[in-house]
Parts: sequence; C-alpha cells; structure tokens
Amino acid sequence: MFIDTHCHLNFEAFTDDLPQVIEMAKEKGVGKIVIPGTDIASSTRAVEIANTYNNCWAAVGVHPHHAKDPDLTVDADLKQQLKELATKNRVVAMGEIGLDYHVYRNSKYENTEITEELKQKQLELFLLQYELAHELNLSTILHCREAHDDMIQTISNNSRIRENLPAGRQAPSRPPGVFHCYGGSKKHLRLLITMGYYIGFDGNITYSPDWKTIVSSAPLARIVLETDAPYLTPVPFRGKRNEPMQIPLIAQAVAEYTGASLSEVTETTTKNAKTLFKI
Ligand SMILES: [Zn+2]
Ligand SMILES: [Zn+2]
Repeated sequence: MFIDTHCHLNFEAFTDDLPQVIEMAKEKGVGKIVIPGTDIASSTRAVEIANTYNNCWAAVGVHPHHAKDPDLTVDADLKQQLKELATKNRVVAMGEIGLDYHVYRNSKYENTEITEELKQKQLELFLLQYELAHELNLSTILHCREAHDDMIQTISNNSRIRENLPAGRQAPSRPPGVFHCYGGSKKHLRLLITMGYYIGFDGNITYSPDWKTIVSSAPLARIVLETDAPYLTPVPFRGKRNEPMQIPLIAQAVAEYTGASLSEVTETTTKNAKTLFKI
C-alpha cells in the first residue's frame, strides 16, 4: 500500500468528483491520504473530508503565501482559530506552514515583492504555527521555497518553542516533520536528515533526470511520497490535473533514482508516513 502524504483534495479542483478520485486512488493501491490546509477555509474543508472518508487525514495551517494578504493578521485570534481546528478529530499535523521567498508569476500575488517586512510576517506566521504544533504534539508539514537557510536557522533555534510547552511535558527539541516537495540543495538535505526530518518528493522529480542527484542522496528511511495534487502531475500525465492515484509513478521514479526495488520503496515510504503522522 502507498500513502499520499500531501494531497489537496480540499481544493476546488476536486469538488465535482471527490468520491471517484478517492476510489481510483484506492484501486491503484494508494490506501491513505493526508490533506494539508493552506488557509482557514481549506483547513476546515480538509478536516471535513477526513471525517467523511476513513482513509483520509487532515493537516491544518496557513501557507506562507497568505502572509501577503493584508487582511491576515498574525495574532492570538488566529492562533485560537487554528488551535480549534488542530484539535479536531483526525488532524495529524500542522501544515502546510513555512517560508516562501519565490515570486509566483501568474498568481494573484505576482506583483508582490519579497520585502524584509514580508519575510518578517512570514516568520511570525510560521513560528505561531510551529509552536502550536509543538504545544499540541502534532507533526509538521513544512513548505519551504528559496528560503532554506532562514528556515533551518529558525527551526534550529528552538528556545522560544521550549518556553511555550505545557508544564512538565517531555518533548523532543522540535516537532517532527517533513520538508514537503523538497527543493533545497544537497547540503541542506544532509543537514535536515541529521536533524531528523523526512523529505517529501513529488511528481516534479519525473520532469528531469537531474533529480537523481538529490533523490539518491536522501536515505530511503526518510523519504515520503506525495502528489501535491492537483499540481505537479508526473510524466506522462503532465499538464493534466494531478490525483492521488499517481503516487505509484513517483514511487517508480524514486526506485529508479535510488536503485532500490519498487516494493522496497513502497514498503519503506509507507512505513515512514505511518511513523510521521501516526496513521
Ligand atoms: Zn507547498
Ligand atoms: Zn501543497
């Protein structure tokens, strides 16, 4: 059995045929799906789906993109809303949360520059949620794009996180997590492995053989598979809507790059996902 550890079944792209998409995934051996939120509305929807389909779980969080939204205030009120969602049934992680310094052309934020002020707001938004994950004993789904140095520095400096833990709680130095849709360097990857993180690979690893260098330098015992559907559709379906049923194509690419057998990739990545999300 495969697990899709990052799939946006909560997005509009799936409103018309959600039951069929989940059924098709099952038929292709994708037995479990984790649905991350990107704002309050999509997190709420993720929780709803997870409480409707017994093979789905939810993560709740506000994506760093939304720091660009002038209506978003990082305050106690936001924390309370997230806490209410995060303590609901079948929520297994805070996510996706993180830092993103990429300017997305062709999006509603295409004219937004990545200023120091925006970086600071992203950091505050991230820390609020990262601390909440630690407080609630949840894993984290970390979104990081063109911000790996700042991200690693932030999660390494955990004094503020420890201070906020409930009294008497024995806790690891930081909440466990996955660097989803990994896009950092080999050097960053080595560091993250040492820190205990999992690495998520998606359909984009089928776009170029250059990915072999990065994928093969991640130990299989730390890799999880994810589609990030409806985005990042693997070859040969690139250009179409992505779906959780495409996970086997990503597993196949990981097998080719690492030299492991497909069954080894399947078994190990599923075991990893179960450990990370306790599902
Ligand atoms: Zn992401
Ligand atoms: Zn995503």
